[in-house]
Amino acid sequence: MSIASSPTGNFIQAIINEDNRIGRYEGRVHTRFPPEPNGYLHIGHAKSICLNFGLAIDNHGMCNLRFDDTNPTKEEVEYVDSIQYDVRWLGFSWDDRMFYASDYFEQMYQYACELIRQGKAYVCDLSPREIREYRGTLTEPGRESPYRNRSVEENLDLFERMRAGEFEDGARVLRAKIDMASGNLNLRDPVLYRILKAEHHRTGGEWCIYPMYDYAHPLSDSIEGVTHSICTLEFADHRPLYDWVLEELKVYQSRQIEFARLNLTNTVMSKRKLRRLVEEGHVIGWDDPRLPTISGLRRRGYTPESIRDFCERIGVAKRNSTVDIALLEHCVREDLNQRASRVMAVLRPLKVVIDNYPEDLVEEMYIENNPENAAMGLRKVPFSRVVYIEREDFMEDPPKKFFRLAPGREVRLKSAYIIKCESVVKDEKTGEVLEVHCSYDPETKSGGAESGRKVKGTLHWVSAAHALAAEARLYDHLMLGEESEDEADEGDDFLRQLNPRSIEVLKDVKVEPGLAGAAAGSSYQFLRQGYFCVDPDSEKGGGLVFNRIVSLRDTWAKVQKAAE
Ligand code: ATP
Ligand code: MG
Repeated sequence: MSIASSPTGNFIQAIINEDNRIGRYEGRVHTRFPPEPNGYLHIGHAKSICLNFGLAIDNHGMCNLRFDDTNPTKEEVEYVDSIQYDVRWLGFSWDDRMFYASDYFEQMYQYACELIRQGKAYVCDLSPREIREYRGTLTEPGRESPYRNRSVEENLDLFERMRAGEFEDGARVLRAKIDMASGNLNLRDPVLYRILKAEHHRTGGEWCIYPMYDYAHPLSDSIEGVTHSICTLEFADHRPLYDWVLEELKVYQSRQIEFARLNLTNTVMSKRKLRRLVEEGHVIGWDDPRLPTISGLRRRGYTPESIRDFCERIGVAKRNSTVDIALLEHCVREDLNQRASRVMAVLRPLKVVIDNYPEDLVEEMYIENNPENAAMGLRKVPFSRVVYIEREDFMEDPPKKFFRLAPGREVRLKSAYIIKCESVVKDEKTGEVLEVHCSYDPETKSGGAESGRKVKGTLHWVSAAHALAAEARLYDHLMLGEESEDEADEGDDFLRQLNPRSIEVLKDVKVEPGLAGAAAGSSYQFLRQGYFCVDPDSEKGGGLVFNRIVSLRDTWAKVQKAAE
C-alpha cells in the first residue's frame, strides 16, 4: 500500500493539476498541517495529515508541520510533543520544516503597521459587546465604528501603545477596514489583533497583543511559501478574508481550499469534549483505548497502516458526512489478519479434566501461527490432562444446534484431540458448573493418523498447568447511538450519551505460555475472540494486560455484502 493517497483521486488534486497547468505556482506543491497545540491529535486530524502529507508526496512537494500557537492561554508543551510523536508514528516526515506561528509575531506586527499605513486597518475602542452589536446580522448591514476614521498617525501610535502594554485586556483592538455592509460577516471590519496579557508557551511575556486566526493563518502560509492551504469547510466563508490579507499586503498568494471534516459514529471528536472526558476522569487519559485520539488508537492496537488505509478509503469530499466507525474497525482487522500471530487465550475459563489422559504426560502440539501467511510458521503449545475452555463453549442443556461441548457430546480441541463430555461437577448451592470431566480418543490426534471421525465443533483451549494468567479489557463504543456528535452542541448533553458499558475488565484470563514476556504494543489474534494488543500496563509487574482491538465479527464487511 502506498503511503500517499491516490494521486488523481480527489478534487484537491484536480485543483493542483489545474494550477500546474496554468503555471500558478511554477509547479510547486507545498502544504502544511497546522494543529493548534491545545489537545491531542485524533482520527479527524489523521485525515488532514494523510491529505496534506500525502499530496506533498504524490506531487514531489513538501509539507510543513506548523503549530498554530496564536492563542496563548490554552497551549501547552505536552501537546506540542505528543503532536510531533503522533505525526511521525503515522509515518510522515516534515524534515526540518517544523514551525510555530508565534515565530512570525514580529513580522505579523510589521504587516499590521503596513495595513494601518495603507489606511486598511484602525484601532477601535468599542467593547467586544459593542463590536458584536455594530456588526449587524445576515439580514441587516453593520454600522461603522466611530473610531473607523482615525488618522494613520493616531492608529500607528495607539497600536504601538497596545503592544507596549498601556491598555487593559479588551480595551482596544486592531480591525481591518473592509466593508460594514458586506454580505459576508467576516468582512465587516474583522478584528486582527486583541490585547491579552497572558504568558505564551514560547514567547513568554514578550507580547500582550495577539493576532486572530483569520489574520495569522494566511500570513503564516504566505511566509512559509505554502501553495495550497487545506482546511475544513467551516472556513469557506473566511476565504475572502484570507485572500484580502494577502492581496492588500502584496505578499505570496497562498490559496485556501476547503474539504469536509471527518465525523465518525459513536465518537466524540471536538477537542473541547475530549478534554472534558480526560479532565473529569470519564476516561483514564488522552491515550484511553476508547478514545479516537491517535494515542488512544495506538494503545488500543491500531496500526499506522490501518489508519492510513482508513483515510484513503473515506476519501476527500466537499460535503460533510458521517463515517461508520465499523469501517475503521474493518481496516485494522484487514491489516492484522495478515500479520498478527494466532494464539489461544481463554477469556472466561472453565476447567476440563480429561480423565483417561495420563497424569504426568505433556505433549507439544504444533499449531500454525497464521493460516493466512504460511511463512509465519508453526509454534509448539503444551497439552496436558487439565485444560481450560471458554465457559460459553459448554452448555449443560443445549439446544440441538449447539456444536460445542455438552454432556455426551464430542468436540475437537484445536490441533489436539477429540474429547467427549462424560460428567460435570457442580456447586451444590448455586448449581454453577465448576468442572467438566471428559474422555479423549487417542486415535484422533491432529496432524497424526486421524480416525476419520469428524466433529462439528472445534474449541480453543489452554493447558491449565502451563497457562499464564492475564487481564483482558474488552471495549464497546464510547458513545451510545448511531448519532455522531453535533458540533453545535456546546453543553453537557454529550456526557449523557456516554456508554456506561464501554469497558469490561476480565481478570482471570488464561493464555498460552508462549506469550510470556510479550512486549507492550504487540498484537495477536486470540482464536475466535478477536485481535488483542499488549497494554503498557503489562510493564507494571502485575502480569500481562491485553486490550481487545476489535472482535472478529466484521460488521462493515457484512453491511457491504448486504448492499451488493
Ligand atoms: P479546535 O476547534 O480546538 O481548533 P480543530 O479540530 O480545528 O480544533 P486544529 O488543531 O486547529 O483542531 O486542527 C488542525 C488541522 O486538522 C486543521 O487544518 C483542521 O482543519 C484539521 N482537522 C481537525 N479536525 C478535523 C476533522 N474532524 N476532519 C478533518 N480534518 C480535521
Ligand atoms: Mg482549529
